[in-house]
Amino acid sequence: MGKLDGRVALVTGAARGIGAAIARRLSADGAAVALADLDLPGCEALAGELAQAGGRALAIGCDVSDASAVQHMVDATIAGLGQLDILVNNAGIIRDNLLFKMTDDDWDRVIGVHLRGAFLCARAAQKPMVERQYGRIISVSSTSALGNRGQANYSAAKAGIQGLTRTLAIELGKFGITANAVAPGFIDTDMTRATAQRMGVTPEAFAAGASQYISLGRIGQPSEVASVVAFLASDDASYVSGQVIYVAGGPAGILM
Ligand code: NAP
Repeated sequence: MGKLDGRVALVTGAARGIGAAIARRLSADGAAVALADLDLPGCEALAGELAQAGGRALAIGCDVSDASAVQHMVDATIAGLGQLDILVNNAGIIRDNLLFKMTDDDWDRVIGVHLRGAFLCARAAQKPMVERQYGRIISVSSTSALGNRGQANYSAAKAGIQGLTRTLAIELGKFGITANAVAPGFIDTDMTRATAQRMGVTPEAFAAGASQYISLGRIGQPSEVASVVAFLASDDASYVSGQVIYVAGGPAGILM
């Protein structure tokens, strides 16, 4: 018996990194999982892997910043997997730059994917959740919500996700829906590896440097974010709503 048997989850940005780890964990815990991403072949490959392991999964191509694509994603989840119980807003991009060099496009794209995307997905998902009087909305924020050099766009989006989460909790609680956020610190994914490359250092050197500022003395793994998401998605977290859980290896972590 898995903790999520009979549940259907929809994970955005599921083709790789933290999203793929969340999808693997929710599937291992018994949920059927819709995998949504810009990268449809990546989702199809992961769906095949989950099915091989005995799970039920569906791959959906979707740009979370596009309202009609998001509605199609929710409709396809319900058509393919029967219902929607758990939404994980994970899709993300970075376009880092110091404020004086940050372009309108850097700002709009990052806010568009993270904040508008989380809003569009939550708005589309709440309807079937309200109808069934049950839901879990879990959004991926970041320690950068507290402010981070070179990330005015990303920091604002991740702080916005925290405000959105609290407001969803307030508005949707009476329908049996909880809304929570996880705020990871430095996690080993393509996103942080690309940042290392941009800074002209190896991912290993970048991780070693960052680890000096992390209480646990190491960077995190995607599975360590996924396990907290799985807790928030489960009935163990039935009375937890409107919260932000930092998953950063310490009270401060490092800003990512
Ligand atoms: P990642 O490896 O870059 O994966 C992000 C995924 O999101 C990619 O598959 C990407 O697809 C997809 N995506 C991007 N834009 C999208 C859109 N408009 N619609 C649908 N999918 C889209 O990043 P990650 O490190 O796993 O990050 C996952 C989440 O955790 C993000 O919200 C990120 O901000 C957050 N986070 C990460 C860290 C960290 O240290 N890694 C720390 C704190 C928070 P493509 O490959 O096709 O672009």
